[in-house]
Amino acid sequence: MKFTDTHTHLYSESFDEDQDIMIQRAIDAGVDRFFIPAIDSEYTERMYALEKAYPDHMYLMMGLHPTHVKENYEEELAHVEAQFVSRDFYAVGEIGIDLYWDKSTLGIQQDSFRKQIKLAKKYKKPIVIHCREAFDEVFEVLESEKGDDLYGIFHCFTGTKEQAEQAISYNMKLGVGGVATFKNGKIDQFLDQIPLQHIVLETDAPYLSPVPYRGKRNESSYLVLVAEKLATIYKKTLDEIAIITSQNADEVFFTKRA
Ligand SMILES: [Zn+2]
Repeated sequence: MKFTDTHTHLYSESFDEDQDIMIQRAIDAGVDRFFIPAIDSEYTERMYALEKAYPDHMYLMMGLHPTHVKENYEEELAHVEAQFVSRDFYAVGEIGIDLYWDKSTLGIQQDSFRKQIKLAKKYKKPIVIHCREAFDEVFEVLESEKGDDLYGIFHCFTGTKEQAEQAISYNMKLGVGGVATFKNGKIDQFLDQIPLQHIVLETDAPYLSPVPYRGKRNESSYLVLVAEKLATIYKKTLDEIAIITSQNADEVFFTKRA
């Protein structure tokens, strides 16, 4: 059984003590592909080091995270673009809008999101969206950018069924992680009405650990707990969940776009 973690920050300082052991634990659990979202330029070297250490397992993205959009964001975007000029990535991510941490930066977050969507279109790459307390604002940008050249993943999807359908209408798959295992996570209530072809698995490690590790450090081996929850919701075997969600990830990250 092979699982794909479509969103994991394996280069985080949270793993400095035991990064190799933690990664090996995930590989032993059957999680053998890791898609690595960027945060800002401070982490770029750590991401490259991770890829160098595990060339068969790591798939890097490049982008500026919305909570790291500050006064210097144009410099940060220049860094993102320079990386794309120098080498290939699997997606532009993670990008989007976060109004939970800081509402005052909405204007520059929107600008950063839009510019990075344009970058993704230029390089024919998917986008990986971070959206927190900002569905209307994110959808407004997607609505104006929609088209065959806009596609990707709505990471850590926590919205309603209607918002799920709207995200899918913009060619987005829904990234489902630990929140699906929470008692008050809500998305488990309607996920069975969203066809499995639109779902990809993720941990968002080191954040958002699934039950029974809720509140503790998350790691990619826990992806299997999310997959088990999906198997229950969709009445599938764990094997079927592994195969279908990995195919869905392939469709996002490996389909060549015209
Ligand atoms: Zn993330």
